[in-house]
Amino acid sequence: MVGINSTVAYTLDHKRVVLTLEERFLLIDYEYSSSGSTLGCFSSVACINSSFHSSIRHESIVYYNIIWAELASARAQTQLLCLRIDYCIVKNDLKATFSRSSFLVDGSEEQNCRAFTEALMNRAYRNTIRCKRLLVLINPFGGQGKATDRFLKLSLPIFDAARCHVDQIKTEYKGHAMDLIENMEGLEDRYDAIVCCSGDGIPHEVFNGLSKRKNAGLAFRVPVCQLPCGSGNALCVNLVGSNDLPFATLSTVKGVPIPVDLCSLTQGDKRYVTFLSQALGMIADCDLGTENMRWMGESRFTVGLVMRVLSRAKYPCEVSVRIAHESRSQVRRAYQEDKSKNHERYDDSVDAEAVASRSLPSLRYGTINDPVPEDWKIINTSTLAIFYAGKMPWMSSDALFFPAALPRDGYVDLVLIDSAIPRLEVLSILLNVQEGKHFDSKQIHYYKVDAYRVTPKAHSGFISIDGEKFDFTPFQVEVHPSLGTVLSRTGFYQAPGV
Ligand code: ADP
Ligand code: MG
Repeated sequence: MVGINSTVAYTLDHKRVVLTLEERFLLIDYEYSSSGSTLGCFSSVACINSSFHSSIRHESIVYYNIIWAELASARAQTQLLCLRIDYCIVKNDLKATFSRSSFLVDGSEEQNCRAFTEALMNRAYRNTIRCKRLLVLINPFGGQGKATDRFLKLSLPIFDAARCHVDQIKTEYKGHAMDLIENMEGLEDRYDAIVCCSGDGIPHEVFNGLSKRKNAGLAFRVPVCQLPCGSGNALCVNLVGSNDLPFATLSTVKGVPIPVDLCSLTQGDKRYVTFLSQALGMIADCDLGTENMRWMGESRFTVGLVMRVLSRAKYPCEVSVRIAHESRSQVRRAYQEDKSKNHERYDDSVDAEAVASRSLPSLRYGTINDPVPEDWKIINTSTLAIFYAGKMPWMSSDALFFPAALPRDGYVDLVLIDSAIPRLEVLSILLNVQEGKHFDSKQIHYYKVDAYRVTPKAHSGFISIDGEKFDFTPFQVEVHPSLGTVLSRTGFYQAPGV
């Protein structure tokens, strides 16, 4: 007797198949008669695990990777129905390929198979809503300039299969995404996520656009996510764990909203929002001084960095910080305590009215134009090589610069590296950054701070905020706990931690 957890179907060449809902995956057993031993008969290899027994081949697809399942009528004037399952084949390196399997179902099985299909869909969307309404902002200028083609080829088919409602807008100038988000009527009710098909520049604009809305508090609850199409795709790498476009698309379909800290930055008379990083020194030079190497994609950062380490560049500035955790053991303890706290899931019922009426939070430490608060520590940085502050662990897929960064601990992680360190050691530290192993280096400073100020002492240079070029003048940053919302693959950052 076949129950709701299992159904019988046939491959397109009429081999019998049993589909079963296991706890974490859909199991597909292909049965073969003794004469029909053509194992290659079913071309769409759906498996994550595939094994061969004498006459049964098993395949499994974890529910997370299932995008849609539906039962439709197959051929006119027959009793046959078609069970179609759209899913992603995900390899160990977190690269995904969109795929579809179709099975024939006898008309007499219809009722049972419909119940089975709905049960399968419930499992596929256990933690998230179906048919998300997405505002996709495509930066045709990002990365190597292929965002539009890549989106149409690799992402849209997955969104279509998932019955997502997609509104696409191409950005036409720098600042366009910010203008759109600031001024779009009813944004909060219209979309389940703002999807930035770009590098980190568009999410930066989106968060700033949200901050300018009258009801910023409510607007910040619309989740932001990224489809990696730029040269810096840190938002995606941190939330999804990979910068593979189909995998990130699947994670958008299946992702869950989580609150994240955002930072305010004041410079001159202006106030901005920054979600990812602030840099001055070698890293900023590499972000911004390598525009002429755009064709290289992500590797332009690495190449630029090695060039600067070798030339022993230094960037004098004054740094004042409000330090929360100073030693590496304190930082590690704080990280582990935060991780062991079981963060509540994002709760939509929290006082929506109070949130709606809120605008941007006020600044606790004033602006860059106020005196530095007395209890801040001043760090001598006349020979600084790298000033790098980050709110997320990975700064690119090959740079786990802030392994202790957490989504909502209320701190920004700060790394300072001095140019007095021998060049080979700097290179060794930077090589270790790939896996976050520089964290234990005694040659660097790694703090958790909740506010800081930087005053550059050179006449000219680069300041990079979320990878965007800012004026080379003093700025001050403070953290706003849990102000923003992002769409995350699992509810956590994907970095391994410290
Ligand atoms: P990358 O990772 O390659 O830097 P980003 O998505 O971060 O890609 O975008 C780089 C810059 O392009 C950002 O400053 C963004 O504001 C800007 N931008 C967006 N749309 C356009 C456009 N149509 N023309 C020129 N620049 C644009
Ligand atoms: Mg960028």
